[in-house]
Amino acid sequence: MRHDQEGPPGDPLSGLLDQVRRSLRDLGGGAPASYIPELSRVDPDLFGLSLCALDGQVYGSGDTQVPFTVQSVSKPFVFALALADRGLEEVLTRVGAEPSGEAFNSIRLEPGTGRPPNPMVNAGAIVTTSLVAGDTPEARFDRILDGLSAFAARPLAVDEAVYASERATGDRNRALAYLMHNAGSLTGDVEDQLDVYFRQCSVLVTCDDLAVMHATLAAGGVNPVSGTRVVAPRHAQHVLAVMATCGMYDASGQWMLQVGMPAKSGVSGAIGVALPGQFGIGVFSPPLEEKGNSVRGIAACHLLSDQFGLHLMRASVPERRPMPPRSLDPAPLRSLRHRPRDQRAALEAHPDRIRVHVMQGDLDFATAEQTLRAARELPAAVGWFALDLTRVGRIEPVAADLLRALGENLRGRDVRMVLADPDQRQAMVHAADEFPDLGRALESCEDAFLTDLGIDPAAPVPLADCDLFGRVDPDLRAALADAFDTLRLADGDSVAPPARQLRERIVLWYVESGRLAVCADTAKAVPALRTWSAGPGAALTPADFPARIARRVLAERDTVCRTLTASGLVRLRALAPEAVAHLERAPLEGADTVDRPDAG
Ligand code: GLU
Repeated sequence: MRHDQEGPPGDPLSGLLDQVRRSLRDLGGGAPASYIPELSRVDPDLFGLSLCALDGQVYGSGDTQVPFTVQSVSKPFVFALALADRGLEEVLTRVGAEPSGEAFNSIRLEPGTGRPPNPMVNAGAIVTTSLVAGDTPEARFDRILDGLSAFAARPLAVDEAVYASERATGDRNRALAYLMHNAGSLTGDVEDQLDVYFRQCSVLVTCDDLAVMHATLAAGGVNPVSGTRVVAPRHAQHVLAVMATCGMYDASGQWMLQVGMPAKSGVSGAIGVALPGQFGIGVFSPPLEEKGNSVRGIAACHLLSDQFGLHLMRASVPERRPMPPRSLDPAPLRSLRHRPRDQRAALEAHPDRIRVHVMQGDLDFATAEQTLRAARELPAAVGWFALDLTRVGRIEPVAADLLRALGENLRGRDVRMVLADPDQRQAMVHAADEFPDLGRALESCEDAFLTDLGIDPAAPVPLADCDLFGRVDPDLRAALADAFDTLRLADGDSVAPPARQLRERIVLWYVESGRLAVCADTAKAVPALRTWSAGPGAALTPADFPARIARRVLAERDTVCRTLTASGLVRLRALAPEAVAHLERAPLEGADTVDRPDAG
């Protein structure tokens, strides 16, 4: 059965896999293996590409669920089982760990010991198969099938037709086995041992299975889908090391040079790849080059390695250590903007509209992938996704690609992605908007949300129109407003220190229009460490201007501020004591225009 599954629709990572697969779909050359007759009956156009992340999420493109026989891709896993059952030392007495530089069916054994060169060529694999625990061939095969199934996180079965075909035509493997038996490296009944090996090669898997199996090795032996430990971390490490040096037969050196990821290929056209600590990949495309490796499979691995910067030897000195990203519960998160009461009420009534996602450390494939997952699970109500990159060091190209694709994907779902990034890496990620800190990013999301609700957060709220004084009649309100001084600031002006002096004289600040902000460092073009901001309708007390922290109060737009001095307050109290009592609660409660319905 052929199917063309393209991963979860619109998923950015499946989209990238799709691009890789599509770009290689027409790549010709090679032919399916024919020395095992049953293998030559395959559809040569089948092509699947799967990736399993270490949290168990599987992404795929193409024929990811079409079964094929695992062939030599079983070898690393059976080597792992032999290590688990016998330990490294004993296994190494029977099989070497050196690249042979020869083909998969090479017949050369180590002079003196008779050991096959490594567990990745047929001879070595026949030995490791024989080392798996079990008193009878049936018991050993059961252990192998159970083990492979545990690596795949699902029960696997044997393709009986391929098994019969291998057995009937496996004379070269038979010759190898008898040679090793004669040399002492293979013990027991030779035909029995071969039978288990042929069955093992005939186990059916899919591309998705290969991705999960290799992700288990990449995760140090714990299957990320089932959560089960399949082998010990040190054995997973040993297997990856041997895959890295010997996994691609006589092309292993060049593979390490150009692709740089531990991998294993098989004559069915499968390639499995494990990037330690990151993910597992499965590729399937039957036509093979002369060395027995899948033509498109190799090309796909080259592309992935190049485009995603995955080469293991790539010197990446961490700038900041990666930490798992966190999605924060948005309810208590608000920008540090002083807002009038109606705006606060609207934001409080919809705490789920804005979601913050904090990333820390260097962003690599794995952290970006976790972010994609978080984005996929966003509640439907979310309209803004704020990515906090404040604590992010380097952004790997693959992470930037994924985040960029995420931004586009979110836009399609009517969610705007905004960045908080002091390093201004907008060009890499192409989010719609970028801000130097999370406070400003949130503020912009809030403003956009309020605007959608029909509240203009930038609309001036003249003092004479606001309810700062309670519901007093308009004439008295105008008289009360007259007791305030007016402070006009142009965009970029600062209310210079000493703030202490300001504090002593002014007891209340009211922003009529524009915006004020307190920044610790105004020397920079974009002042850092913004403590708060205040827009129209906000009332502030001297406590909002702590002398030590607030170096300067800055106008971020042309701003009109009304200020009340201590003596002005005395005058007001004489005029309307109740209004002043109301006024003194204003900075806590916020003001609102009188003609708006009371939202609090
Ligand atoms: N069953 C195959 C053989 O022994 C495996 C070879 C391979 O996949 O490289 O010939």
